[in-house]
Amino acid sequence: MYSTFIFLSGKRIVVVKYCDFIKMVLNIASKIKFCDLCEVCENIQKSPKEKACLILRKYITEYRKLGERLKTEDQQAEISFYPVLRLLIPKFDRERSAYGVKEHALAKIYIRILCLPKGGMDAEKLLNFRSPKAGVNQAGDFAEVAYFVLKNRCGEGKKFTVEDVNSRLDALAQKHAAHDPRGMDDELTLLLTGMSEMEQKWLIRMILKDMKLGVGHIGIFNAFHPDASTLYDVSNDLSKVCTLLHNPDRRLHEVEITIFSPVRPMLSEQCDIQKVENCMKNSAFYYIETKHDGERFQIHFMTGTFKYFSRNGFDYTDIYGSNAMTGVLTPLLSKQLQPGVQSFIIDGEMMVWDKNIVAFRSKGDNIDVKSLKGGSYLQPCYCVFDILFYNGEVLTNKPLCDRIKYLNSLITPCEGVVLQTERNIVKTKDEVIERLNEAIDNKLEGIILKDPESVYKPNSRKAGWFKIKPEYTGGLMDQVDAIIIGGYYGDGRRRGIISHFLLAAAVSKDGEPEEFHSLVRVGSGYTMAKLEELIQKMKPHWRKCSPGECPPGIIWTKEKPEVWIEPKNSYILQIKATEIVESSSFKVGYTLRFPRVEEIRYDKKWTDCITVSELTDLWQRASGKLYSRHAYSIDPEASSPKKKRTSNHQPQLGKQFCSADVSTATIKSTLLEGKEFCVMSDYNGMTVQHIETQIYENGGKFVKNPGPSTFCVLAAEKNIRVQSHSNSKQYNVIHTEWLLNSVASHKLLPWTPQNIISVTPETEREIMLQYDVFGDSYTEISTEENLKELLSKLESKVSVQKISVHEMADMDIELFSGPSPMGIFRLCIAYFDIPSEDDFEAFCVRKSLELQKLDFEYYGGIVSTMIDDGTTHAVVHSRCQTRLEEIKLLNRDRRKKIHIVNEKWIKDCVDQRRQMDERNY
Ligand code: ATP
Repeated sequence: MYSTFIFLSGKRIVVVKYCDFIKMVLNIASKIKFCDLCEVCENIQKSPKEKACLILRKYITEYRKLGERLKTEDQQAEISFYPVLRLLIPKFDRERSAYGVKEHALAKIYIRILCLPKGGMDAEKLLNFRSPKAGVNQAGDFAEVAYFVLKNRCGEGKKFTVEDVNSRLDALAQKHAAHDPRGMDDELTLLLTGMSEMEQKWLIRMILKDMKLGVGHIGIFNAFHPDASTLYDVSNDLSKVCTLLHNPDRRLHEVEITIFSPVRPMLSEQCDIQKVENCMKNSAFYYIETKHDGERFQIHFMTGTFKYFSRNGFDYTDIYGSNAMTGVLTPLLSKQLQPGVQSFIIDGEMMVWDKNIVAFRSKGDNIDVKSLKGGSYLQPCYCVFDILFYNGEVLTNKPLCDRIKYLNSLITPCEGVVLQTERNIVKTKDEVIERLNEAIDNKLEGIILKDPESVYKPNSRKAGWFKIKPEYTGGLMDQVDAIIIGGYYGDGRRRGIISHFLLAAAVSKDGEPEEFHSLVRVGSGYTMAKLEELIQKMKPHWRKCSPGECPPGIIWTKEKPEVWIEPKNSYILQIKATEIVESSSFKVGYTLRFPRVEEIRYDKKWTDCITVSELTDLWQRASGKLYSRHAYSIDPEASSPKKKRTSNHQPQLGKQFCSADVSTATIKSTLLEGKEFCVMSDYNGMTVQHIETQIYENGGKFVKNPGPSTFCVLAAEKNIRVQSHSNSKQYNVIHTEWLLNSVASHKLLPWTPQNIISVTPETEREIMLQYDVFGDSYTEISTEENLKELLSKLESKVSVQKISVHEMADMDIELFSGPSPMGIFRLCIAYFDIPSEDDFEAFCVRKSLELQKLDFEYYGGIVSTMIDDGTTHAVVHSRCQTRLEEIKLLNRDRRKKIHIVNEKWIKDCVDQRRQMDERNY
């Protein structure tokens, strides 16, 4: 509307287009002295948070009052709080482009305008403001260092109004955009020379976009209006926030939703299934929705026109089609609209539908839903789960249960084109677990739990939606989204290009990342093509690292990159790793073990990376093993209908999984009273159940899995399960012979090195007081028999130590900068379901699986003869699935889920020389 602005002391002359007269419009910003605003900032900064908020509120109230007074003078007066708000939260000011001025440039300008001698103390302080020499309390804070340098060197200032400062800053940004460094210099000189040291301090903070007020943007928004933060989330527009919410008494009952302008989608909070009850306290029932594995999209429609926006607000209408005649989706989708639909905004997930297999393809197939072409067997299919706007009415403030009713009168579902997300009602934790189990069986990513009372809060992650994902792999963890902060040049094929990255987690304040702390170095998982695409995007932003210094806002420790990048220009990598381990090489204090890049998340903003507190939470909850946040099982004590169902379908996978039936046995002695045992293998012709019966008859208890009250695990062979317990050193694993000898001699015999398979560190200490390293007792006289055994053990004690798979994996990382192509299955323990029948088909399947077993072992995997705690995969041939259901049932009751895959998984992994996403098999 306005074309030119001319400033005259306190009045703005606005030349209004289409008008042939010039009108003077009063502007509140011209009445506010910049020094007064700085005074307020100073007071806020010095006060504790609560008082600071009060100061700010008071200031805003006075501001509004002044606005009202101006309105009485001039109805047209501009009284928005925007000119001040954009200075208080400069990071959020989208109207003004970047200034391109950092501390170093400012330091140089000061040195020049103050005529500071080069190498002098003040010049050095400014240039090396991070050094403690700059002042104990000021080091690292350029504005504060400048303040002390400027003290007694400036006039009293008070010349500029808020309007002047804004227009000068506009000019600075424009000159930066026009590549006019001289002009920038002039603007800055003009501003800085006319201000007091205190004004300059705050101006510097505004220019550096880091106010250090001690009150974050949410606090500032709240002081202005209770809905300001919400409205900003929807609109990303400070000016709009100030205009629409100028009146503090008028609540924004409906978040301002505008058709054809993208809304930041509502997000889901992570939920640990074991603690799901905590998320279900608000309402009598909850919805469980399918968690689609596609890309978040919202579709806007009005009078025949469609628009498609991605999660980040990018417009993909060109691909999907703006009307019924164009694009890959709209021609089909528009046919499904029900009569009477005039306008809507819907939220959902864009999926890839494969017409050949009549099913969705998953993300793991690496098909970009935004690159689909018409006429292909692959087409986009939109799964809609929410609605924000319908026929002119904004629905965001309605509860979800009401919103979804609108969906029924909106679209007629059509397979492969548009579907409504499947939704079920649940009331208890067990029902949620049941749904999650179903999701696993259907190879889905997880489920989404939603509060029916939740209103649609754009960009909010804590508003009643929860994502619950299972842990599919034994040992491999869920993904962590970390941001690239540094790079390393590669060698070999990757010579001269950045091939490895240093990633970081954010330290957030009021939901905004303030600092980035180094977390992990990663250099594998991506293809050359993907790496090149990423490098191309980052190329203009890499900067050389200065020795001994971390860039502003980034902290690393021992592990230092060769080049670094500002987080706002960087990208998020989705990392898969095995666990978190302590490490002093990274600022976070721990790092990820065996990291590999799962995906480059171009769809995520740089601010969406994992925070240090989220990592610490994971670390504490799971004591390093990230997967345990997804570990779950139905409480075995709970007498839910599910439990009965499970027992009806008892899997027949091996008698070792069945407990002894002691209903007819009697307790004959108290020898083992108060002791709990876990028997892991048969011994000398005695079955597990037989040994368990002996325990029962002697007053002991037996369990199928050891727990904190287990006295010892009994075993006679080192099968995989025993091996895994031995390695964990959590339990005393004792040879079954010890129990039988104790029972036979009617007394509990002490454990000797001869019958110990593995013990906890405490037991080991006790034993070492009585026996030497070869197991020879310090006090007992040796017999011929135990001497023979000792001598046989001597050999194995002095033999070469075997290295564990974890050590091998460590070596892979060292040798190949990532997983070794020869160790594709390292850390995998697979059970191959080989059919025992003897018909021709079974024979073929057997041979095929046996060959695959060899491949699997050759590439670093461990074959397990049964499904036990250590198993990570079960390979079931696609031509022989008779036991598939049993294995699935068994998997349901496991804490740590296994991948159930078919033979193609092994083949594809070997062909591609990498581990493929199991969900596709
Ligand atoms: P986030 O979106 O939470 O930042 P992310 O992109 O890494 O994380 P996930 O953690 O796997 O994705 O899951 C959240 C995503 O799941 C949502 O952003 C959304 O795109 C998707 N999603 C799939 N189905 C649903 C559903 N029924 N309701 C809400 N979101 C869903």
